[in-house]
Amino acid sequence: MERDKEGNAEGCYANIIVDISHEKVDRPFQYRIPDSLLGKIEPGMKVQIPFGRSNKLIDGYVMELTKKPEYPEEKLKSIHAVSEGGISIEGSQVRLAAWLKRTYGSTMIAAMKTVLPVKQKVKAAEKKSLRLKVEKEKGKELLLEYEKKHQTAKARLMKELLEYEQLPYSLVTGKLGVTGKTISGLVEKQIAELLVESTWRNPIKLAQTNQKWDRKILTREQQAVVEAFTKDFKDKKEIRYLIHGITGSGKTEVYMEIIEQVLLEGKEVIVLIPEIALTYQTLTRFYNRFGEQVSVVNSKLSAGEKYDQFLRAKRGEVRIMIGPRTALFTPFQNLGLIVMDEEHEGSYKSDTMPRFHARETAEEIARNCHGALVLGSATPSLEAYFRAEKGEYRLFTLKNRLEGAYLPAVYTVDLREELKQGNRSVFSNRLKEAIYDRLQKKQQIMLFLNRRGYAGFISCRACGYVVKCPHCDVALTHHFGNGGSNAGKLVCHYCGYEREEINLCPECGSKYISGFKAGTQQIEQKLKEEFPSARVLRMDGDTTRKKDDYERILSAFSNEEADILVGTQMIVKGHDFKKVTLVGILAADLSLSANDYRAAERTFQLLTQAAGRAGRDKLPGEVVIQTYQPEHYSIVHAANQDYEAFYKEEIAFREIAGYPPAAHMLGVFIQGRDKKAAWELGGFLAEKCREAFRKKKVLIIGPAKATIEKVNDTYRYVIYGKHREYSRLIEVKDFLEELLESIREQTKQISITFDFDPMNGF
Ligand code: ADP
Ligand code: ZN
Ligand code: ZN
Repeated sequence: MERDKEGNAEGCYANIIVDISHEKVDRPFQYRIPDSLLGKIEPGMKVQIPFGRSNKLIDGYVMELTKKPEYPEEKLKSIHAVSEGGISIEGSQVRLAAWLKRTYGSTMIAAMKTVLPVKQKVKAAEKKSLRLKVEKEKGKELLLEYEKKHQTAKARLMKELLEYEQLPYSLVTGKLGVTGKTISGLVEKQIAELLVESTWRNPIKLAQTNQKWDRKILTREQQAVVEAFTKDFKDKKEIRYLIHGITGSGKTEVYMEIIEQVLLEGKEVIVLIPEIALTYQTLTRFYNRFGEQVSVVNSKLSAGEKYDQFLRAKRGEVRIMIGPRTALFTPFQNLGLIVMDEEHEGSYKSDTMPRFHARETAEEIARNCHGALVLGSATPSLEAYFRAEKGEYRLFTLKNRLEGAYLPAVYTVDLREELKQGNRSVFSNRLKEAIYDRLQKKQQIMLFLNRRGYAGFISCRACGYVVKCPHCDVALTHHFGNGGSNAGKLVCHYCGYEREEINLCPECGSKYISGFKAGTQQIEQKLKEEFPSARVLRMDGDTTRKKDDYERILSAFSNEEADILVGTQMIVKGHDFKKVTLVGILAADLSLSANDYRAAERTFQLLTQAAGRAGRDKLPGEVVIQTYQPEHYSIVHAANQDYEAFYKEEIAFREIAGYPPAAHMLGVFIQGRDKKAAWELGGFLAEKCREAFRKKKVLIIGPAKATIEKVNDTYRYVIYGKHREYSRLIEVKDFLEELLESIREQTKQISITFDFDPMNGF
């Protein structure tokens, strides 16, 4: 070991982050590297260390090696061992974790676990086979010899080996009935050899499709993107593209073309697709084109499957990883491109700490590896389009649908007018007629209901009393009596609380207490009454509890086993249904009443995506949007399918009101069981922030009650900070973290979390 002037050896000490997610231990602790481990410890390695007063052995990650002790040598503890089965984090991942921690606010260990989604090593599955080791001529001689000596098992085996050369071990011991002893005899004599390969658990079970892929002649719009990419990629320019292309305009085809170029350069690719759109159909397309180099991760994979994919990527056996936001952390050695499809999707934002957004994180990763980033969407997020306008992204537009498909005709129905005309049904006259028409023509229909949470709550029409959950500040939802364990009950969707139906109002005794708005179940029932011959499928949170439900319902509909599919927003994703010529949006404005600044954007996206489901083939499509606010700009522009007009109005609103992306927001979320303590802590923190950041002009709002003040008996309050510069808000977060550290003892029972540019409100 080399020593420097002061006699300290290179890397005698290690700074280690302990595997405990608590702010109090969220800093590196220095340990001595014992002689037995000198030279064996590297940054990123998982090690076992004695910790705390009891010196209990716990896991930790080595951040860096240092030469000098920060404390007197005798006070330092030693690393106990390198963790068995631990997976080391690469230096680049440690840097990414540090970036996540700083940018979104979390403990270091939580950030590390985010970049390292696989926590356990799992033994690879093995495949054994037996191969002939001698020349064929020699084998034939042996065969004759075995037959002469009536060694029938050996003879059987030799015959097969002569024909196939290599046989699966299971076949030899199974069907051929050769004993292990006989086999090892042959192996010992060097007549045959045993091969052991580890087989990979391939989560894509698609090998059975033999559809061939044929190269398409790209349209001019598609060609423009591919040509620009080819050139920029060759010139090693920084590539940040946004493809704004309506559904069916050929974005996926473009992704595949540019992916091919990146692979040819020997680089690897991550393709992000929202989990809900990760369908068999999409995966098959990638698999048919790129074969075994494609793999997929999703939340349903077992630990073993995840680990395999992780290792395969690290070894370069997988070169395209497809998956939801966690696929970003695939440990490729030579990443060249990140594609992010449907970049506007809310699921790209993590809902646990660190609450990172995949778009920004992808940018950071691309920056670090000098890779390209290509975003695509039919309804780009305000964030992405804003950046394109500022010139940070290069914008490409795909305006035309392929395969001769038409854009559907869109009609808006004013539900207030319907009511005036005495129509109290959930279906407007226009929609009813259209449904009759399609049923007659044997074409398919999709009916879409915005959001479940608003549907089916119970209130008293005499006094207005609403039946609420005793543990949460939300109304209970009615489940109807057509099967299911909770049929005919009132249910809380936040905590699972259930109770019997109510027939008399507990406040005033009126019997006019009933369900208020239509949920998907109610729509299904109404359809059965109104169109008794129609075959109806329903898709919502209740019918998609099991792993394969989602895929099953969609396939059934795709196979025309039903005429009408009713559902929540989940039906607007994924499959192409060629026979769907009518899309009905039953109450377009339900998402507008949600009180957060993204409500209009979300409504516009949902309506546009839902409309995009109609007329995916030669048959012309029609969309009927039912609404109480036909004049609202999100509905007007969605009906006209005019993204740019919507963007202009929406960004003007965000500018004036100081909302993202025009400005940035930091949400500080305070939760505790003691209502008073949580509220008071909120007040204290807000006041301190106001004082500290008055000069820097950070606007501090709150504390205020969260949208739902109580969930599961926990009270929830929120403070917002607003400023044009993101970095200013990071300062606010850092300030709060320090402040909380100093008053830790008083605030133990209260949890504080941060959320930058919140997507889903609090
Ligand atoms: P998006 O991803 O924008 O929804 P896709 O890439 O899925 O669009 O394309 C829609 C359909 O058009 C797919 O069936 C695809 O195979 C087909 N397609 C895409 N590009 C072409 C092309 N240049 N020529 C013919 N068909 C194409
Ligand atoms: Zn009442
Ligand atoms: Zn509840």
